[in-house]
Amino acid sequence: MVAGQWINGEARTAETSESMDVINPANGSAIAEVDLAGAADVDAAVTAATAAFEEWSRVPPVTRAEALFALAEKMKEREAEYARVESEQSGKPIRLSTEFDVPGSIDNAAYFAGISRHLPGSAAAEWDGEHTSTVRREPIGVVGSIAPWNYPLQMAMWKMLPAIAAGNTIVLKPSELTPLTTLMLAEDATAAGLPDGVFNVVTGTGPVAGEALMSHPNVAMVSFTGSTRVGHRVAELATAGLKRLHLELGGKAPFLVFDDADIEAAAQGAVAGSLINTGQDCTAATRAYVHSSRYDEFVERTAAIMASVVLGDTASPDTDLGPLISKDQQTKVAGMVERAIAAGGKPVTGGSIPGGSLASGCYYEPTLITGLDQTSEIVQEEVFGPVLAALPFETDDEGLRLANDTRYGLAASAWTTNVTRAERASREMQAGCVWINDHIPIVSEMPHGGYKQSGFGKDMSTYSFEEYTQIKHVSTDITGVARKEWHRTIFRNPDA
Ligand code: NAD
Repeated sequence: MVAGQWINGEARTAETSESMDVINPANGSAIAEVDLAGAADVDAAVTAATAAFEEWSRVPPVTRAEALFALAEKMKEREAEYARVESEQSGKPIRLSTEFDVPGSIDNAAYFAGISRHLPGSAAAEWDGEHTSTVRREPIGVVGSIAPWNYPLQMAMWKMLPAIAAGNTIVLKPSELTPLTTLMLAEDATAAGLPDGVFNVVTGTGPVAGEALMSHPNVAMVSFTGSTRVGHRVAELATAGLKRLHLELGGKAPFLVFDDADIEAAAQGAVAGSLINTGQDCTAATRAYVHSSRYDEFVERTAAIMASVVLGDTASPDTDLGPLISKDQQTKVAGMVERAIAAGGKPVTGGSIPGGSLASGCYYEPTLITGLDQTSEIVQEEVFGPVLAALPFETDDEGLRLANDTRYGLAASAWTTNVTRAERASREMQAGCVWINDHIPIVSEMPHGGYKQSGFGKDMSTYSFEEYTQIKHVSTDITGVARKEWHRTIFRNPDA
């Protein structure tokens, strides 16, 4: 399978004549060859999006809603294919792509279809008695978006849906490692009746296609999901062009277990929350802080559940945990664990690259590691692998302080049966999402986005429209008089 870009409603070969293989990280096999876009391809896509904006920004909301509902229906027709391709290109177990990624994406499309008809500005009043003010909420223009590889389809949807629902047009660059479901999405969007040029996809690398898109003069807004490191570069490019900027960046979610917590629930939640998507989830639980009186119990139970997790063939519904995205990622995770062990960390379970039938893939054992210091690299930096660190704490103040003590602030959870503690944690944890007695679940209706170095701006929910619209104040004179009261301040002789 050779896949190109999707520009102006059709597949288009890149002008660069360059391509790269998409690799299934479960076994190292090439599953597709994808064109790598250059600046000319990005320019063609932005030109198509610019041309489409004029009409799309003016169609009635119901027209946008119909196209997005039709998209949700089109995606349902090949749900199983989406799940298979998503699993093959990213190494997700088929159970995860079938039960989480694809239905979540379709639900997102249906949600934004509905909510696109409820995008009001506010009808206001005669604040000064002489004008009626109204507030219009208007689209921004062409949005240039960049998505990561960890949830390729969902991240593409989170970017394109609110942008399009609000009347913008978009050029999206998926990760070069996982472009296939985004291309399927573009094909379905056109088949669903989205006008040509409204949703365009360029496939290519970050430094070439990504930078060309972020700095294109006709891109009015930049919307990026990826690492904090690349986020800095994207911010530089967007700032240079004075573009609107939305950043969804890395995370290092704390998992705070108070002494009154249900330890069985916390252990189950810690395994699910840290191993989802092989830990390659920006909101994954990565640092468990557990009250010292319950620490041993938590560590023992969490390690026992983790050790029972089944690694294997991602096409099998019996597999729990798939590989990491690439050999590079596997080397990075292994290196961070090795350095943690060298610094005194103890893997209670895991801590190695599995061999045997898994050796050709990019697998890593589910790992629970103790004995670490708050300042250690693995506690402070994003691992993006199936690795959970556990650290004890003594007082609520200390637990909350440690939970907040990283540069990230995307998500956090607190585990307690005490309502006062739950309320205090939800107020004091510095993160865009705080779960109480759970970790991970998200819904289309609620916002997702970071605090601190995890970025700014929200995906999903009505809040995402604040990213993808601009507000206009319209002030209409209601006096009908030629000589307004306030003119006196500017010139005194109206009869000249
Ligand atoms: P990444 O930052 O390496 O790459 C993300 C995207 O940026 C890719 O499409 C890549 O091609 C592109 N890119 C790379 N260099 C670029 C450049 N110089 N200019 C423009 N674009 C460039 O991230 P990744 O490894 O693909 O994804 C994992 C990261 O994404 C993690 O840090 C994770 O926490 C984060 N993430 C955040 C959220 C969120 O909602 N906050 C969601 C998912 C993933």
